[in-house]
Amino acid sequence: MTLPAKVKTADRLNQRGIKPSVQRLAIYENLLGRLDHPTADCVWEDLIERIPTLSRTTVYTTLNLLCDKGLVLVVLGDCDKIHFDAITTQHAHFICAGCKCILNVGETSLVAEDFQIPKGTKIMGIKVCISGYCVQCLKEYDR
Ligand SMILES: [Zn+2]
Ligand SMILES: [Zn+2]
Repeated sequence: MTLPAKVKTADRLNQRGIKPSVQRLAIYENLLGRLDHPTADCVWEDLIERIPTLSRTTVYTTLNLLCDKGLVLVVLGDCDKIHFDAITTQHAHFICAGCKCILNVGETSLVAEDFQIPKGTKIMGIKVCISGYCVQCLKEYDR
């Protein structure tokens, strides 16, 4: 059952002009299989046992490559840490100031026209980020 999914992932990389090496596939599949917006280090930690030859640099460069090709999005977390997201359709995020978790919280109806953007500016998209404390943290710290 895992094989068809693998072929599909490889196809996606090929379509964007990325050679689907074993390591690249593993990195992209890792990201596709999770919703927690990991940092490059988190992805590396997840894979290093299975692929002992995988370097942190490879994970960084691969994630940046996937970003450049539009397969992965960057989410700036708390403290400006770079997190990665395999969901590339526009959606808003909630970032917890306590545990730093990043949750997908649905689509946003905001449009560029809602803002005072100088005429002639090229809009690439709207990133919505809500900050606060998640339910778990509120329970733990009784804030
Ligand atoms: Zn939290
Ligand atoms: Zn997301």
